[in-house]
Amino acid sequence: MANDKSDKSDSIPIIGSGTIGSYTAYLLAKQGYIVTLYEDHDKIGIPCHCTGIVTSGLLNILDLSKLKPELIVNRLKRVKVVAPNHDSTIIKSSDIVLDRVGFDVFLAEKAVDAGAKLEYNHKFINFDMQKKQLTLKHKDVIKTVATDKVIAADGPNSQLFNYVNPNIKREPWVGVQVVIKGEFDRETYEAYLGSEFAPGFFAWVVPESENSAIIGLATREKTNFYFEKFMKQRCGEDWKARVQSYRGGLIPLYNRKVVCEKQGVFLVGDAALQVKATTGGGIIPGMKAANALADSFKTGISYDKLWRKYTGKDLWMHLMIRKAMNNSSDEEYSWLVELANKQKPKALIENIEREHAFRLMMRLFIAEPRFLYFAKHLL
Ligand SMILES: Cc1cc2nc3c(=O)[nH]c(=O)nc-3n(C[C@H](O)[C@H](O)[C@H](O)COP(=O)(O)OP(=O)(O)OC[C@H]3O[C@@H](n4cnc5c(N)ncnc54)[C@H](O)[C@@H]3O)c2cc1C
Repeated sequence: MANDKSDKSDSIPIIGSGTIGSYTAYLLAKQGYIVTLYEDHDKIGIPCHCTGIVTSGLLNILDLSKLKPELIVNRLKRVKVVAPNHDSTIIKSSDIVLDRVGFDVFLAEKAVDAGAKLEYNHKFINFDMQKKQLTLKHKDVIKTVATDKVIAADGPNSQLFNYVNPNIKREPWVGVQVVIKGEFDRETYEAYLGSEFAPGFFAWVVPESENSAIIGLATREKTNFYFEKFMKQRCGEDWKARVQSYRGGLIPLYNRKVVCEKQGVFLVGDAALQVKATTGGGIIPGMKAANALADSFKTGISYDKLWRKYTGKDLWMHLMIRKAMNNSSDEEYSWLVELANKQKPKALIENIEREHAFRLMMRLFIAEPRFLYFAKHLL
């Protein structure tokens, strides 16, 4: 290894300039903190692993009118949910498909404009709590930074996760997807449930336009086997010839016991498992947690208390729904889709965003008590 460089810094280091790291840096810089983002790669957002679908709840966090129009790749009007028995229900939605790389670049630029420093090619190596020293590798050079705090926004493989949560074993799903040419209904997002294609999760078709879609699924094991099977069924035997690019990555499973603050270390985003267990969506919950972290710095209120308040209850409800679904048979899954297709539940699902899973489920249980049948799978 070449030279060893040491810095003393008043800056708050944030590891990872993905969606959540950059958004956190933006919020803290806006509050007047000196912030440095350390990103392992030499570009923002690449490699991209994400589909980029978000609910219009993003509007409550960011003013979408400030996004360049080209960052919104598509606006969806409905979700077609396909049950294991191949019956389906159509649910109205107002989801947005983001240009995921462009969105990350946009947030990183916002952070820099607000005053944050962005260091590319800086890989987190270690944070020594006793010595209050952060160690990074920049190309072949080992750098140390004197600091008493560090924010870990380094994604699902976060190295600081185990330090903060030594007793939690992470159990992520493996997600794989392609951008593929073909003919698609550009307003309809498809979700396939059940054990045939994606046991324990689901498979998706997210159109970018009439002739391009992101198609993928996630499972705990044999992901490529299920993916090939799904692709052949959905796009035909010759699907590989139409693939534009492959994407994939880990989707963290939320754990209610996760702790996100310990002795100057703060976890946020995928690094903190702040992802909806039903859909794998981590953009909005991670951004809500980033708001909680910034508010914690501003007010002195515990970050663990604040992120649980901003998003913890809903993340827990998503986890309960996922558990109940994963302990259901394919027949029960099909019945679930049938129940969701009834007038009252459907109206609730269409009108209460899935970001508010707790409120939605409480209303659903009242409107259609037969949903409570699935609670037995939580015992
Ligand atoms: C297949 C798939 C599809 C998905 N689809 C959706 C979706 O449609 N909608 C949605 O809301 N969510 C989706 N997600 C989840 C979403 O991608 C994540 O929740 C979101 O990217 C979390 O952002 P993050 O900033 O926490 O982590 P990341 O986006 O993973 O960013 C982490 C950053 O840290 C950097 N880094 C990592 N290690 C180090 C290190 N040692 N040193 C320095 N830097 C480091 C990385 O290079 C990266 O830039 C999907 C995930 C997968 C895998």
